[in-house]
Amino acid sequence: MDTYNHVIVNTEECKGCRLCAEACPKECYKIGSSINTLGYQYIEFTPGKCLACGICFFTYPELGAITVIKKDKKAV
Ligand code: SF4
Ligand code: SF4
Repeated sequence: MDTYNHVIVNTEECKGCRLCAEACPKECYKIGSSINTLGYQYIEFTPGKCLACGICFFTYPELGAITVIKKDKKAV
């Protein structure tokens, strides 16, 4: 059971488009300095302020990179 809201990013699926970062109302995302095997500078999640609202999940143009975990249960 998860004790706080957070997001798991599959960094190998991320294309670094930043749509999730722009959509997040709590500024939980930033582009990091690391690059995945496809050559994309992938997004990084900072826990602490996440609402588990799922906006980032639904903003993502392709499903797969973002999993939202709501405190005490899986949200989306
Ligand atoms: S919307 Fe998806 S591809 Fe774009 S930065 Fe976020 S996780 Fe990466
Ligand atoms: S679930 Fe909501 S608050 Fe959490 S990272 Fe995604 S958009 Fe931001």
